[in-house]
Amino acid sequence: MRPAREVLEQLRELRAGDLPTHGGRTLAYVYDSGLSGVDDLAAQAHALASSANGLDPTAFPSLRRLENDLVATAAGLLGGTEETVGAVTSGGTESCLLAVLAAREGRPDVTAPSMVLPSTAHAAFHKAAHLFRVRPVVVPADPGTFRADPGAMAAAIDDTTVLVVAGAPSYAHGVLDPIAEIAAAAAARGVRMHVDACIGGWILPYFRRLGRPVPDFGFGVEGVTSISVDLHKYAYCAKGVSVLLHANADLRRGHYFASADWPGYTMLNSTIQSTRSGGPLAAAWAVVRHLGDDGYLELARRTLAAVTGLAHGIEAIDGLRLLAEPDSTLLALTATDEGFDLFTVADEMRVRGWYVQPQFAHASSPVNLHLTVTAANRGSEAELASDLAASVAAARAAGPVTVDEDVAAFVAALDPETLTAEQFAGLLTAAGMGGGARLPDRMAEINALLGAASPALRERLLREFLGMLYRSE
Ligand SMILES: *Cc1c(COP(=O)(O)O)cnc(C)c1O
Repeated sequence: MRPAREVLEQLRELRAGDLPTHGGRTLAYVYDSGLSGVDDLAAQAHALASSANGLDPTAFPSLRRLENDLVATAAGLLGGTEETVGAVTSGGTESCLLAVLAAREGRPDVTAPSMVLPSTAHAAFHKAAHLFRVRPVVVPADPGTFRADPGAMAAAIDDTTVLVVAGAPSYAHGVLDPIAEIAAAAAARGVRMHVDACIGGWILPYFRRLGRPVPDFGFGVEGVTSISVDLHKYAYCAKGVSVLLHANADLRRGHYFASADWPGYTMLNSTIQSTRSGGPLAAAWAVVRHLGDDGYLELARRTLAAVTGLAHGIEAIDGLRLLAEPDSTLLALTATDEGFDLFTVADEMRVRGWYVQPQFAHASSPVNLHLTVTAANRGSEAELASDLAASVAAARAAGPVTVDEDVAAFVAALDPETLTAEQFAGLLTAAGMGGGARLPDRMAEINALLGAASPALRERLLREFLGMLYRSE
């Protein structure tokens, strides 16, 4: 046996190579309340329940109680009624998947089901479409505001539509879709409407209480039938917890699963998982109870101040502009001229100790950088803005990134359907990654190369890349 101390030491060393999860310097993937004690509490609660199994809520009634409490708190935030029910899932994607599955199962009369999505819907819905064979009918969002176009979405509903989706807010641009109009159109056709509030659901109600004009996007809106909200985002819980709410129990039934057709225990699942660790659930329950309504209001106040300050700071930087006025906590910033490369700005921010997330061009949305702002960003807005300005200056000095002509021609000739291992290896070599899975420190060239590929080819290349990352080291 290896001593526990030694193993933990090794784990700490490995973790030291990751992006920091605290301090507000990683502006995607992680959410930091900035409060001391929250993570310790989550870790202790996690340890208390991680060996318990949500597979059987009669064997572990504590987990059922924790889940019912979290669902009730989420429903309270989002305009739920006595009819509102839900499920705790492993994350936003699982919540979205289950909303789609329940909608499909709710319409057994529709043989080739489809769902209407704005072009800005989260990729989780494309995953649901892929897994559950529900055809996505993608409706272009307004090219200027990036909000879903309610008229076009209404017109896209037909007899095969089992679900209409909108975001509160969208991830890429951080804007709220016109939920009320879309929900009314869905209701008029007797179709379910899911509000993807994965990222906004736990903070926007508090923004409203702080005086921001946030239109209602919850169950108070006629026609909304389900809502997803991630606790591992703005509820500042440890990873692995989201809530899917349904307006009533009938709507939820479609994602429940029972199988008695085997010789073992009766498998009875409310979500995709069967064995479900009690750890993330207990950690989330503890954090939500600890922070409470007043705690979340104060965190929302700090986050709102940070996002407002940052938006002003960014607008003042020569060469950058926001793609949209932030409705929530997310910023998407783009270049106002061609004199520099935004992906180089991301690399320069890395050099200065910040992670900002590159977003590729899509329809009317140009290449941009995404920032998820949390309470931990309060107080360092000026430093972030000045490092952004310095990064733009450095990117300007470095000049635009160009993809080598031969490489561009090679990429243009690749067919995502028939890509071979040799072609992929050739591309890796061209990208300077012939040596294997280690990413170069600077990503601008690779991002430029990926940006030049069609989305279908990019998806294929990324899947190959994933296969390369997950091999024994
Ligand atoms: C984060 C997010 C998701 C997916 O959530 P995961 O927890 O990453 O699976 C879905 N929709 C929106 C709007 C999100 O922000």
